[in-house]
Amino acid sequence: MERILIIEDNKTLAKLIAKKISTELNFEVDVAYQLSEAKLFLQRYKYFVTLTDLNLPDAPNGEVVDYLLSKECRVIVLSGNIDKDFREKILKKNIIDYINKSGVEDINYIIHTIRRLHMNQLHKVLIVDDSMVFRKSMKAMLENLFFQVLTVAHGEEALGIISAHPDISLVLTDYNMPVMDGLELTKEIRKLYNKNDMSIMALSSNEDDQITAMFLKSGANDYIKKPFSKEEFSCRVNNAIEALENIFIITNHSNRDFLTGLYNRRYFFKNVGSYFSDAIQNGEGFAIAMIDIDNFKKINDTYGHEMGDKVIVSLSEILRTSVNQKDIVARFGGEEFCLLLKDISAHNVLVAVERLRANIERNIIISDKGEEIRFTISIGVSVSHEDTLEEDIDQADLLLYNAKQGGRNQIIHN
Ligand code: GH3
Ligand code: MG
Ligand code: MG
Repeated sequence: MERILIIEDNKTLAKLIAKKISTELNFEVDVAYQLSEAKLFLQRYKYFVTLTDLNLPDAPNGEVVDYLLSKECRVIVLSGNIDKDFREKILKKNIIDYINKSGVEDINYIIHTIRRLHMNQLHKVLIVDDSMVFRKSMKAMLENLFFQVLTVAHGEEALGIISAHPDISLVLTDYNMPVMDGLELTKEIRKLYNKNDMSIMALSSNEDDQITAMFLKSGANDYIKKPFSKEEFSCRVNNAIEALENIFIITNHSNRDFLTGLYNRRYFFKNVGSYFSDAIQNGEGFAIAMIDIDNFKKINDTYGHEMGDKVIVSLSEILRTSVNQKDIVARFGGEEFCLLLKDISAHNVLVAVERLRANIERNIIISDKGEEIRFTISIGVSVSHEDTLEEDIDQADLLLYNAKQGGRNQIIHN
């Protein structure tokens, strides 16, 4: 487990922060009450981040900060001193943040910051700026915030890097650059990635108000006016990343079924429509299969609703692992599922669904009371297709109904 070091001579406060970190975050926490103790800890362990007070019994004037930086520690300063010049002087050093420590809210902010830094490790940030000095200083700031950082000198280079790393979360771009400027770059990126997939932040100097507006209209998510403070920079960058993460969570919720984690009906209709028409046009073989658990009401009545849920989850696991990566498995509702099997011959479809039916028939779920629960499924498969996705699904549904009428635990196809 990763560790955090707190260096703080106010024992009550140190213990309070330590407790909060170890209950809310998954870190091991060490507490040093003075610099000499901190040195001993640093000899033994490597720390994700160090939180330090500035006035310690054996280092009364912030000497601890330079010491920690010399040992290549990531430093967050905790201080009661809110004097503006003093804060600025400390912030000039290569520290992550300067946090006040006056109340509960501040401790919550510390927790939030550590969590943010930990998540930042998952994100790639691209710096696009023709000034090497500026690139270097931004890179240092971003690495200090735990981001994976890539740098390039102009827009065209940026497009190359983006196509090699399409998972870049944030692009920070200057305006004036040779070959391709920041505005052009923003427009080019937006042809490929929308605001919710890749965030763009423009950096413009104070004189060009119009440029700022043009950036935003071209699809930049935010802008920072040069020159900016390290604090403003960190906050804006973290906010941009947080917004992306939140949008990802919301989108995922609206596309997926809560119980099984499978795609839902909404996602299916939104995303399969274009595949359907392309495949028909290109003569690609594919299948749409509607699946429904047989006599599921009886399972609920006999073993309880919770076991019914387990049966649904078990079926969804089997469906997920029975298909190829490119296929789509969705839970349409209740105990009804829909499969899209892509690029497959009619013969192989029938082999695959028969194997699935037989696997389910053999599958046993053990209830909380140790009872063996078995169940079967009926399947309606459309391999010779209708004109629209909706009609094709209706067709598969009708075939499923026929399978039920025919005695269940069977497959009917067209
Ligand atoms: P058939 O073989 O004709 O499909 O019969 P059936 O009993 O499976 O079908 P029916 O549609 O009559 O009943 C389905 C039941 O599934 C009714 C509903 O209470 C239950 N159900 C729907 N969603 C869930 C769920 O998420 N969890 C559980 N445990 N039960 C659910
Ligand atoms: Mg059913
Ligand atoms: Mg039903």
